[in-house]
Amino acid sequence: MTIATVDPTTGTLLREFPAHSAAEVEERVAAADAAFHALRETTFAQRAEWMHRAADLLEAEADRVADLITTEMGKTLASARAETLKSAAGMRYFADNAERYLRPEHPVEPAAVGASALTVRFDPLGVILAVMPWNYPIWQTVRFAAPALMAGNTGLLKHASNVPQSALYLGELFERGGFPTGCFPTLLIEARDVAPLLADRRIRAATLTGSVGAGAAIAEAAGRNVKKTVLELGGTDVFIVLPSADVAAAAKAAVDSRVGNAGQSCIASKRFYIHADIYDEFTARFVEGMAATVAGDPRDEKTTFGPLATERGRRDVEALVADAVAKGATVLTGGRTPAGEGYFYPATVLADITASMRLFREECFGPVACLHRITDLDDALRKANDSDFGLGSSVWTTDPDEIDRLTREIEAGGVFVNGLTASFPGVPFGGVKDSGYGRELSAHGIREFVNTKTIWQA
Ligand code: NAP
Repeated sequence: MTIATVDPTTGTLLREFPAHSAAEVEERVAAADAAFHALRETTFAQRAEWMHRAADLLEAEADRVADLITTEMGKTLASARAETLKSAAGMRYFADNAERYLRPEHPVEPAAVGASALTVRFDPLGVILAVMPWNYPIWQTVRFAAPALMAGNTGLLKHASNVPQSALYLGELFERGGFPTGCFPTLLIEARDVAPLLADRRIRAATLTGSVGAGAAIAEAAGRNVKKTVLELGGTDVFIVLPSADVAAAAKAAVDSRVGNAGQSCIASKRFYIHADIYDEFTARFVEGMAATVAGDPRDEKTTFGPLATERGRRDVEALVADAVAKGATVLTGGRTPAGEGYFYPATVLADITASMRLFREECFGPVACLHRITDLDDALRKANDSDFGLGSSVWTTDPDEIDRLTREIEAGGVFVNGLTASFPGVPFGGVKDSGYGRELSAHGIREFVNTKTIWQA
């Protein structure tokens, strides 16, 4: 893929970047390794000061960063600004909590293991390769980088090819805050040049947020080199509504979930399972809400959501909808690509989905909802779990027994009851099945890339 900024609102190529040469890549790997040796000697307090300063910079530059995000991937300016401020808050969170999360532990009495002293420490690993997606170009990267740097690791950023300017900004941000030179350099390289990097002895682990295919490619290369990976991959999250729920609130949340970020979110609800008793009411409200959304200029405050990020992304959405319609799906609203420039696609609701349709199993990274009718809780659980993915889920009911079963039996990394799936710095985030493994954020996230080291003393 060309490394370039193409404005998805107009389809205009704004700026192209040549890929780094082998020598330029080597320079950055060496810099990240040298920075690691400097950073491992620093204290949590020192790193926290630098992280807060980097967060100050990001906040002060929020308008410019938001404009860059909107230009490169098309989300509304308001949501780009919110993403930027959330990222700064996440940086502050790890500045303030990393030391607590990585405090040495004393798991048993030393005498029990024949020692006079016993400690478990959490030491940094070294240079971590971070392969990141374009859909939340700042937040996705920061939520890896802030805990990793606070733990004393350094990183190498391979960002998505369509957000090179966001990538270059992030590659400098932490250094500008005070971290050692080379702590998080950006590699402008193509996807096919990523896996070979895992053979480099200086790179100790990798994290990837993106598609299943990309995750598998990185995990395969890491496995050959006996290196750890964390994978945050796709999702076809369920949204289950049962009769005791507030149907109006659920329908409104369903719209927000499916059109937020133009539907390009791993944790957006994509499969909607609605109980037969309330199916008609929910569907009427949901379709009305989806039809009322405005897909348009992301800089206009009246716009609900902007264009899809890339032309290829829109082609993928069109192909999934066309396949479903050809096999008998009913379009309740949307479903037609508008004429004109930019990669716009309308809010779309499809019903009569069957297992023969690609949409039944595949993730649709756009504002397209699949409606299914369910007969009872068992039916909901069976259908929800009949998926290759297991990232988040959103369930709507006020019945305590139903909540208990849904939270225990849904196969996903998160179950959100009467609310939308979301991410918070202090709460673990990740999935099961093809949605990946490992966790980001919280104590669980920061402990993914550390050496849990036992110190036993006679
Ligand atoms: P993608 O193609 O997998 O791209 C993601 C990143 O991986 C980009 O930096 C990409 O680089 C790189 N990449 C692609 N193929 C690679 C390979 N073979 N080896 C190494 N790196 C490779 O993902 P996408 O389709 O643009 O993004 C959407 C996907 O990401 C969806 O499935 C979505 O659900 C998932 N996602 C998951 C989460 C989560 O937290 N679980 C969050 C956001 C998105 P290039 O741009 O150069 O190809």
